[in-house]
This record gives sequence, C-alpha cells and structure tokens, in this order.
Amino acid sequence: MLVINNLHASVEGQEILRGINLTVQAGEVHAIMGPNGSGKSTLASILAGKPGYTVTAGDVNFNGQDLLSLAPEERAAAGLFLAFQYPVEIPGVSNTNFLKTAVNQIRKHRGQEPLDAVEFLKILKEKARLVNIDKELLHRTLNEGFSGGEKKRNEILQMAMLSPSLSILDETDSGLDIDALKTVAFGINQLKTPDNATIVITHYQRLLDFIVPDFVHVLYKGKIVKSGFKELAKELEAKGYDWLKETTV
Ligand code: ADP
Ligand code: MG
Ligand code: MG
Repeated sequence: MLVINNLHASVEGQEILRGINLTVQAGEVHAIMGPNGSGKSTLASILAGKPGYTVTAGDVNFNGQDLLSLAPEERAAAGLFLAFQYPVEIPGVSNTNFLKTAVNQIRKHRGQEPLDAVEFLKILKEKARLVNIDKELLHRTLNEGFSGGEKKRNEILQMAMLSPSLSILDETDSGLDIDALKTVAFGINQLKTPDNATIVITHYQRLLDFIVPDFVHVLYKGKIVKSGFKELAKELEAKGYDWLKETTV
C-alpha cells in the first residue's frame, strides 16, 4: 500500500529526514516512535503534502501512485487520511456540515454521487456509535473551543466517515488525558480492516497500551534505526531512547 524508499528531506536547507525506508501493507497498524525532534512530524507533513519541505532524494509509492507528485486533495481522494489535515477552527461551520462537505468532496473525486442529508446523517450516527463518540460533539462548531481530547475524538470520527485506505495519525506532544487516548485507540482498533492500514506516530508508549501495533519503528535523527514488534515499545518504555544513540551514527 505504502512504500517509502530512501526518503531524504530538508527544511530551510537543514536535512531532517536522512533516508527513511518503510513499507506498510493493507491490514497493518504501524507505530512510529522516537524522541522529540527526530523528524516524526516532518515525515507526516511530507506525506500530507504540507508546503515548506524539500524532498532531496527518494520516493513514496501509495497504492501504485507517486504520492509526492499529488496535490494534498488528490492524496485524500486516493485514500490517504492525515489527522491534522483540518486543524483549523472554522467559526460558524458546524462539525456536521464540515464532515458532510469533506465526505462529499472525496466522493466527488472518486466519481461517486454525493450523499444527501438523510443518508449522510444515518451514516454519521452509525459511525459515531461505532467509534463511541458523543453525539454532542457533532453539533459543535468545528474545533471551536475543542479541548485537545475532543479534537482527537473528532479526528477519529473524521477517519470513520472518510473510510481512508491509509490513516496517518500524528500524536502531538501536548498531553492527552487517558480517556482521550483510550478513545483514539478504541477508534483505531474499531476501524481496522484487512483492507486498510494505520500509521500512528507517537512518543507516548502508553497509547500502545491500548492499540496493538503489528510493527513498531523507532525514528532517531531522521532515520528508522530500529523496527520490531509490540515488545519494542515496552523495551523503549523501560530503557528510553538513549541506548539507541550507540546504534546510530
Ligand atoms: P518530532 O515530530 O519527531 O518531534 P519534527 O519533525 O517536528 O520532530 O522536527 C524534526 C526537526 O526538524 C527538529 O529539529 C525541528 O526543529 C526541525 N523542524 C521541523 N519543522 C521545521 C520547520 N518548519 N522549520 C525549521 N525547522 C523545522
Ligand atoms: Mg516534536
Ligand atoms: Mg512531532
């Protein structure tokens, strides 16, 4: 589904990613961990097509397409979901209306008919129930006054509504309460199918108490320095990241 090959990237002339290789297959959940400043958000931003990053080498193939040549909205239409795609507050636009517009935009790109209000609300209710999101959140204005936890819950709802083939969730460094972490994890687990995949980027080991990733990778100074299974997350919790310095240049 996703093949990242020798990806090098820089910001303002400074090399941040120094040769990332990663393959994600349908049905898999990958966790990318690593200390602050290792390049996790840079990787997510480049996959999202956020401006300001220069890819200096390597390529990314997504479902047979050259991902880096696609505009951000084309990436979304091709089935990529990035949780921080819509971080903005939009005064006066209800969450429900925003979701309806987003869903119908993607349907249009895929050549599908737009959902009418009744169909949309039916699916919205089903999905909100599936990922255990309070209906109250749907009536709020998009992200206005949302707590960190509510934003995360809403991202999971967006993910449920858009049915992406690959979701990339970049956990911010800001503290999330345990309930929000559980909701995020529960949503990811509920939405997992043999046909989709998720990359969870986090420096919290505790998120991985609730999500069981198939693979765990450690990003350190712009490279994946170690890959393993869920036990690797436990090892990192116990040992921190410092021991990896010895394994890298
Ligand atoms: P992480 O998400 O792992 O904490 P980031 O990808 O946010 O790491 O940052 C990796 C490195 O790139 C850091 O040294 C950071 O200062 C630098 N960096 C990231 N984005 C920018 C930017 N827009 N301008 C300048 N430096 C940046
Ligand atoms: Mg950071
Ligand atoms: Mg980050």
